[in-house]
This record gives sequence, structure tokens and C-alpha cells, in this order.
Amino acid sequence: MRRSLSAAALALALAVPAAALEAPRKIVDYDIRVSLDPGTKLVEGEETLKWTNPSDVPVGELRFHLYWNAFRNDRSTFLRESGGQLWGGKADTGKGWGYTDVTSMKWEGAELVKGARFESPDDGNPDDRTVLVVPLPRPVAPGETAALAIVWKAKVPRVYARAGYVRDFFFFGQWFPKIGVYEPTGRRRRTDSGWNCHQYHATSEFYADWGDYRVTITLPEKFVVASAGALVAETKASGRKTLTFEQKAIHDFAFSADPRYVVVEDVFDPAKDVPKDEIARASKTLGRSGADLVAGFHKVAIRLYLQPDHRAFDRRHIEAQKWALAWTGLWAFPYPYAQISIVDPPEDGMGAAGMEYQTIYTTFTKTYLSHWPLDRLYVPEMVTIHEFTHGYWYGLLASNEFEESWMDEGINTFTEFVMVDRKYGPFLEVPPGIGFTDEEVNRAEAALTQDHDPILSSAWKYAGEGSYGRNSYPQPCTTIQQIRNLLGEETFWRVFRGYAERWRFDHPTSEDFLDAMRTPGNPYVAALIPKTWYGRGWVDFTILDARTVPDDGFTGFDDAEKPVNFDPDPKGKGKEPPDEKRHKGPWQSLVVVGRDGDIEMPANVVLTFKDGQKVERMWDGVGGWIKYHVTSTSPLVKAEVDPERRAVLDRNPWNNARYTKRYEGPSAAAKGRIYALHLVEILLSTLWGIL
Ligand SMILES: [Zn+2]
Repeated sequence: MRRSLSAAALALALAVPAAALEAPRKIVDYDIRVSLDPGTKLVEGEETLKWTNPSDVPVGELRFHLYWNAFRNDRSTFLRESGGQLWGGKADTGKGWGYTDVTSMKWEGAELVKGARFESPDDGNPDDRTVLVVPLPRPVAPGETAALAIVWKAKVPRVYARAGYVRDFFFFGQWFPKIGVYEPTGRRRRTDSGWNCHQYHATSEFYADWGDYRVTITLPEKFVVASAGALVAETKASGRKTLTFEQKAIHDFAFSADPRYVVVEDVFDPAKDVPKDEIARASKTLGRSGADLVAGFHKVAIRLYLQPDHRAFDRRHIEAQKWALAWTGLWAFPYPYAQISIVDPPEDGMGAAGMEYQTIYTTFTKTYLSHWPLDRLYVPEMVTIHEFTHGYWYGLLASNEFEESWMDEGINTFTEFVMVDRKYGPFLEVPPGIGFTDEEVNRAEAALTQDHDPILSSAWKYAGEGSYGRNSYPQPCTTIQQIRNLLGEETFWRVFRGYAERWRFDHPTSEDFLDAMRTPGNPYVAALIPKTWYGRGWVDFTILDARTVPDDGFTGFDDAEKPVNFDPDPKGKGKEPPDEKRHKGPWQSLVVVGRDGDIEMPANVVLTFKDGQKVERMWDGVGGWIKYHVTSTSPLVKAEVDPERRAVLDRNPWNNARYTKRYEGPSAAAKGRIYALHLVEILLSTLWGIL
């Protein structure tokens, strides 16, 4: 099944017109030389960093991230916050510690390291070593480019949180002295310029400036290297090899090395790999011609670095990757780079799995997922789609993951379920017919997890890992889905694509996304945003009452005190009260629909009568309740609010229907599905951390 392409075919795939890659504003230029001793796990590095002051004020000190110092000892902020455990991974506190030490930093002949100090801007932890502040002998002028020569040594930590090693597997993520972001006025709506350089937190990810990277890696010859960028040079000498990779217009550079990698190569060919029906759907929804939508597509070289025991999964990852390239190209914008590399970490190195970097990411494979019935769980596909598409929401729209993690994880989880559900359908269909979509699982998770924070907060300021998780993944993705339902397909996707195109190669902030969602002028959306992104608003539709009685007309005493339709003398033979079974006349029904919580939104109310007739009423959702009095020819059987589940934020969808005493449902299967969904949600909520 594996397909190997000729070097010529790959070279063709790589021959992307230079014009296809737009240029973001370049702030950094890294030329890094690094050497790894896999035995001792020691690293020696040198880098030439050209940094341009993007602001209109002189900058007198520089700030650097030294992320691997998070794993230096148990006093780092990362270790204190995580307790040495993250998403199920556990720190090896024996020989597993790692570090980064900058031994020299020179600028214009001056050695800057002696005056450097560590600072902890977020928590004041005196023992954290993840932010290095470097005072300069003179300020860098506005627009000036400072060229720094940096030398460092490092020890690779044992992997439990993204970067590190296990046996001969290495993942280098956030691994080099990386300058923080000096934000000029106006960047991410700042009103003053200044450094944005946070410590490495247990729950935070990253934020960096755009630039060009050239990275030269020296290590023993037996290693296969998966890297961001394209290989431009390779030399070998005395059992070691030196590889040089380059990539322009990125803000992060990661690589991996493992002697066991099986490399599977393929090419995304838009002529074959963009489904025609998806072009048609996007064309109709977005109001753009198919030719216009596919105009920016080009071939993309795909390289999958698989563990040897995961060969059975190769096509699953590659097909998912191709679908993600097609979908994002149509609904956001075409992937601008020439290649993508997929790294498959070993099963004892899952701390590195499911993590995004630019033009490279790590996926997730477990051999047990190849066996029935777990082969019906599209987890490898889901992770591949999820991590690749991070390349858009953290990568190409370079949001600040420290301060606005939802912009990456939340938008990404939304696009993940759209892609996964469209291609794969329900992903746990055992037995057939009882399956759950990715969207349903996220929606259930948003409804069932504890609510302690608004969506928008800095990653380390949530009540805990659980609240960070809820507000970074299922809650924002479900809220975006809610906005989609309120705006309607065409309006939503046009706004969504407009947002993506406007902010590619830039740094959007929450308000940029939310402003885009407000532009169509939908009042429900405008009211929803402050209650969810900035508050802990919620909504629960419910049927408060549903009853139906036969209407046989007037019964009782009339104005002349004469009995009508009843027998005032129990011994006499008057007319019997109406018998429901024999009753053929009209019925009177009362339905009360309630809306709890502080989020208002419209909802469809459907009344179902015994003869199968349905009556629909659209409620605007304003106020706490609405009553319906209905006269019908058949008794009311069921009252239901929002049967189509368009109010996806509804916290408790299981009180949305009520049956009158002529109760006829729900079926045992429908009840079983509700309970099974709950169970699956609990199972998956323990898994989502790896995504
Ligand atoms: Zn993610």
C-alpha cells in the first residue's frame, strides 16, 4: 500500500512558485547550528539572530524564551503548575531533567550574558528560568536590525510535555534561545509598545514573530530527521551527518530525529485530491466560482515519519492529511508552503504526540487502534487533521497562545469536527446506527464540564487544567458552532473565510475574530459574545408543561342555573362526562416552553399530535418562558423545543421534550443513545488532552 515517489516527482512537488508564498512582516532571521549527542542527550548550539525593532521607540533590553528550563528542576513554574504531570504524561524526575544555558550572547563586540537576568513576569517565581532579560549597551533604534551571536548548551529532557527524548526518539520543539515578541503600538490592539514574553506555563503554548529560518543539524548518521522547512544540504563525516533545512515566513521551527522512522512520501495534488463535491459546496456557500477557489492551490509534498510498528496506519494519516489540505484550502485559503511533515512518535513517547509546529506536526497512533472495534475510532485521522490545521489557527494566523488559547484550540476544534464529520461521519458506530459525531462529542463535553471561567483568559489564569481545557477546546468550538447556526451557512462561512484571509501572516486577537462575527449585524450574536467570551453565560431550553384535554364544548350551569352537559342528580340518568376514547371533537392543549440561563436565542417549538400532524412555532427566546394554547383535532402527544439541536449551547438537551400522558416515546434505542453519548463523552474527555 505504501507509495514511494521518485526524487523527480518530489522535486516537481517542491517547485512551488515563489510568488505563491506571501511575505509577512519579517522581524526575525535565525541561522542556527546545533549538534546532538544522543548518548548523553547533550546539545551544543550557536545561532545568529537578526532582530528588527518593529516599533517606533528605542528598545533597551531584549527578552528571550528558554523553554527547556521549564524542565530544569521542580521549582520551575511549569513543574509547580503541572506537578510534573500533563495530559496523562509524567515527568521523569530522576535523570529526565533538561535545561538550556546561554553561555554567550554578543552584539557589536559586547558580551551581554554577564548582565543578563531571569525574570518571571507572570508569577514572580524567583526560581523560574524560562525568561531571560538581556540589557543592551545601547538601545536598538526603531527599524534597526540587531545581529546577535548566541552560543548555548542544553540537555534534552525526557519527554512528557511536547519536547524531549525517549530512547532514540528525539523531538526538538521550542528548543533554541528564542526572542520574545516586542509588540509595537497597534499590534493585537495594543495602545503602547512593549515586550510580550511570558514564562513557560503548564497550560500555555506559544507566540512569536515572523521570520526566516536556516537550521543546520549535526548528529549520528543512523538518525532519520524530520524537520520544518526543506532540506537544502547534507554532508557526512566520520559517522555523523550534517543536514541544513530552510524555511521562510514562519515563526517556529521544530524537528525530530529517530533511527527507526519509516518515511512515507506522497504528494497532495489539487487536481486529484480536492473533491469536486466539496468545491461545489464551497463555491455555492461562499458565492465564489470554483475556479477562483482552487486558483491558489498547488502541489504539497507530504512526508510521514512512521514508527515501524505503525505501518498499517500510513494511508489513514496520508488520506486525512490530503483531505485537510483540500478543506482548509477551500474554506480558509490554500496552504502556502511547499511541504508538510508528519511525525509519528513511539508509543512510549506520547508526551510528544498531538502537537503542532509550522510545516511539521506530531500525530497520534496506537497499535490497538487497528483492531476491531477500536478501528472504528477515527482518532489517528482526527489528530492528523487537528494538528495540521493548527498550522492555520496558530501557524498562519499567528495568535498569542499564552493569552488567547481559544483562538488556536477553539477555532481549530471547530474546523476539526467540520472536517472529520464530513469525511468520516459518526466515528464510533458500534453497533451500526448508534454512533457519535465529533461535533456531538464536543458539544456534550462543553455542556457537561464544570464552568469556572469565561472563554477568554490567559492560559495560566484559569481555575485549573480542566477549566483551561473546557474554555480552550469544546466551549469555544461549540460557541462558534452556535454563531454558525445563528448566522446561517452562507453568512457564517463568508465571514469565516474573510477573517482567515484578512489575518493570514499576521497576529489576530480575539476581538478581530469576534468583530468579524459581529459584522453581519445579528443581534443574538452580538449579545452572545459578551456572555461567553467575557462571561459565563449559559442557556437551557426546557418544556415546562405539556397537557391536552378533550374539548366537548360547554359543561356546567348556565346563567339560568340549568345544567348543561352533566347530570346534577347522581341518581338520575344525565349525560356522562366525555370519554377520551370516544371523543371525536377538538382538543385543547397547553404548552409552556422555558429558557433558563442568561443567553437569549431563538428556538423552534414543535408540537406533535397523535394523528401525526405537527405544528411548529418559532419562539424568539426573549424572556423566561412562552405559553402556547392550541386547538387541534387530535390530542397532543409531544412538545419539543429545538428538535434540530440548533441551540448547541443548550446545557441540558435532555429536558427539551415532554410527552403528554398519551406518551409514545422515546424508544429504548433513543434512550440508550443518550446514555451512550454521555459515556463516550467521559471517555473522550480523558483523551482530549493529547489533542
Ligand atoms: Zn490542539
